[in-house]
Amino acid sequence: MKSNQTAASSSTKIQRVGVVGGGQLASMMGDAARALGIALVVQTPHATDPAVSVAAGAVLAAVDDVLATAQLADGCDVITFENEFVDLDGLRTLERQGVLFQPSLSSLDPLLDKYVQRCYLKDLGLPTPGFWAWDCSADLPIDFPFVVKVRRHGYDGQGTFIVKDRESFESIRAKLKGQSLLVEEFVPFDRELAVIAARSANGEIAIYPIVETQQQNQVCRLVIAPADISLDVKSEAEAIAHTLLNSLEAVGIFGIELFLTSDNKLLVNEIAPRTHNSGHFTIDACETSQFEQHLRAVCQLPLGNCELKCAGAVMVNLLGYESAESDYLEKRKQLAQIDGAFVHWYGKKESRPGRKLGHVTVLLDREVVDQGRMQVQAIAQTIESIWNAN
Ligand code: ADP
Repeated sequence: MKSNQTAASSSTKIQRVGVVGGGQLASMMGDAARALGIALVVQTPHATDPAVSVAAGAVLAAVDDVLATAQLADGCDVITFENEFVDLDGLRTLERQGVLFQPSLSSLDPLLDKYVQRCYLKDLGLPTPGFWAWDCSADLPIDFPFVVKVRRHGYDGQGTFIVKDRESFESIRAKLKGQSLLVEEFVPFDRELAVIAARSANGEIAIYPIVETQQQNQVCRLVIAPADISLDVKSEAEAIAHTLLNSLEAVGIFGIELFLTSDNKLLVNEIAPRTHNSGHFTIDACETSQFEQHLRAVCQLPLGNCELKCAGAVMVNLLGYESAESDYLEKRKQLAQIDGAFVHWYGKKESRPGRKLGHVTVLLDREVVDQGRMQVQAIAQTIESIWNAN
């Protein structure tokens, strides 16, 4: 794909999409691609990675291997991303040679480093927790409790540390010595929310119902759609999404994680320039899944309808709880028997504690949703008790 073809791509149907990354997000995009008649080619290190078996082709290489991305781009009309662990400077060379990236590298640029991302949000006037760049040698910038985050390559809470006292601070300081870090205020939030929003190249924005997310040990445990929030909070969250996506000139799905405080204030925690765990419920519960929506945006197709097809949904992550090679077939069969449940299994060869192995979405009818959050929480507990049983 060279510059003359980049120009052509605005008028020609995009048929081959290259994805940098080949985990479960790329794999779920593979299902959506097939339905749209689009061929997906992935760049991922191992032949056993989840997306390889569903993709039309694979370049087996690390996601930050720029020469491999050049090879990927040779056979594709557009390149998109499954994760943000890329070598942006290296990719810029390819962009200059005419490779089309969606989202563009300039929209990824302010997001890859958590400190730079916080500065970007602040400059836009969006509310964030107070934050500081920090290296382990400097004095403590704030009182306990606070949060320390590695600035790059953190995911699923790896690289995020809630520091409550001097003792844990000293052990974290020793562990992270030499790394570039972000320190921020600990937010005693009432709830965490997420906005999954898509923007097309012509500036159209589509936003899914705002969800509540619940984390355990900094890893997403469950997602409830829609979040039980006031109209004001909903409008403000949607306004944040509009401001951000327009400012970034984003193309594709972006996940925006928010803290909601007890006095109904929203603070932006994090922006992910890609499909997001908080949006997995859309596969079974919405008219258009986040994966189809992402492909629609990057392939210059009209955006789809974000509405729920049911009154609500709860999504529970199936997190590894041991080191094993089991496919947990019996447990998956049991989970599938829950009324309204859809079980998604990522086909990973190894389970490790905390590793995302799959998820379950349960569609909820009006009666259950009206009974409130406790009822939904009980369904999530049923799923977890089956999953975590010995
Ligand atoms: P990651 O990028 O690894 O997902 P996050 O920065 O999103 O890490 O943090 C993971 C979780 O840690 C959040 O969902 C939240 O539960 C908790 N957390 C992060 N930052 C703060 C904060 N400033 N105050 C309170 N909790 C936080």
